[in-house]
Amino acid sequence: MAKKHIPYSHQSIDSGDIREVVKVLKSGWITQGPKIKEFEHALCHYTKAKYAVAVCNGTAALHLACLAADICPGDEVITTPLTFVASANCVLYAGAKPVFADIEENGFNIDLNQIVKRITKKTKAILPVHFSGLPYHCEELYKIARKHRLTVIEDACHALGAEYKVGGRWLKIGCCEHSDMAVFSFHPVKSIATGEGAAIMTNRKDIYEKLLMLRTHGITKEGMTLKDQAADNEALPSKKKNKDSQAPWYYEMQMLGYNYRMTDMQCALGISQLKKLDGFINKRRQIAGYYDQKFGQSVCFSIAETTSDRKSARHLYIIRLRLDAISKTRREIFEELRALGLGVQIHYLPVHLQPYYRDRFGYKRGSFPHAERYYDAAISIPVFPDLTKKDQARIVDDILKTVN
Ligand SMILES: *Cc1c(COP(=O)(O)O)cnc(C)c1O
Repeated sequence: MAKKHIPYSHQSIDSGDIREVVKVLKSGWITQGPKIKEFEHALCHYTKAKYAVAVCNGTAALHLACLAADICPGDEVITTPLTFVASANCVLYAGAKPVFADIEENGFNIDLNQIVKRITKKTKAILPVHFSGLPYHCEELYKIARKHRLTVIEDACHALGAEYKVGGRWLKIGCCEHSDMAVFSFHPVKSIATGEGAAIMTNRKDIYEKLLMLRTHGITKEGMTLKDQAADNEALPSKKKNKDSQAPWYYEMQMLGYNYRMTDMQCALGISQLKKLDGFINKRRQIAGYYDQKFGQSVCFSIAETTSDRKSARHLYIIRLRLDAISKTRREIFEELRALGLGVQIHYLPVHLQPYYRDRFGYKRGSFPHAERYYDAAISIPVFPDLTKKDQARIVDDILKTVN
């Protein structure tokens, strides 16, 4: 009998989640009702950031973050090659150029020294990724950014629930104490699931107000921010120049925005999921701890160093094969694990090696050796809250059997 298929990640939806979504369906408000603000408040409460703007997916969130940071044609934004393509694509959407800085030699995250080397007069922002849920060095990166007057946009799509320690205090990723904005995704493989969905966190009121407009066509109805140029009709005698902005129908489009809204149904699911986030993250950490202990005993893997000042959200668990100690290739091991029913994955082919980026910017093998060396030996194995003890043991057995 074929063994059960185990995916690399899977959402955990329970009857409480379902009840909350059904309530919204029965309420009459299914798009722009009260759940959006409620979800945003809950995200602020969790991360301690001042503002949150819920949007339709992480890619749209990154796009709006770039626009809110005033990233324009002619600008450069420094990001990592080891990420999902959306982290770099968003810079292209804004008409600017993504510039890659390689990852740390034996780590997952962008190398701060490589960032410094790539700063030019054109650099506008840094867009780092907390890869696999492990925070990069937030405080140090922010210092570099301040020194060069650069905006920091955290791609925190892997890292809702992750923490880092500064001056004896643990801070949640998304608090934005060391960035201008942080972006979360709620795609089903991430820390919490809303179907599609995302949020941009910030402590900056100017950015928050811009994001609200950009999310909905560049339109505002708020009295204070209205420009009210509709009354500039010189032909009218002055007493007939009514202020349109006081009229009940009135709204203004002040910038070119989009329809990137999240729905009330999704936000209700998000609120319910967020209440369980700490439990989800604890389960992910327990599973990762078990894997670390099992694979740490084998010469076939290099285990990522643990750090006392950062706690990963464990979005991904990646085994890094020591191919010099193994007789098989990564491809053979991957295919054998798939044949055994394990939904293993590779996260990710480095962005600079994607055909689009090679053709447009001339990147090739060798451009970012650390990201490439990581890619050549990495396999993501299943980690998600509902993975049973029995499944975990089977995964370890299958992997040890396959590499040996
Ligand atoms: C998932 C992800 C995104 C995009 O999020 P979507 O909600 O799928 O659009 C962006 N960056 C990273 C690193 C991601 O993992």
